[in-house]
Amino acid sequence: MKCPVTNCQAWTFVKETRARPKDNFTYRRYECANEHRFTTTELVTKVTENPKKRKEKEKPNE
Ligand SMILES: [Zn+2]
Repeated sequence: MKCPVTNCQAWTFVKETRARPKDNFTYRRYECANEHRFTTTELVTKVTENPKKRKEKEKPNE
């Protein structure tokens, strides 16, 4: 991930990862090469079943 600060876009590294398994939620604290700090959160938005179990084609909903 690149730094989100305008005109920076430097490479970043993860300073800290904090998982909250109870909420299916992960926090990450980043710092970029220019010492900007920011955090991201990771959230499960979709669970897809094993593709092998799926039917050949999914019909579009209309
Ligand atoms: Zn930066």
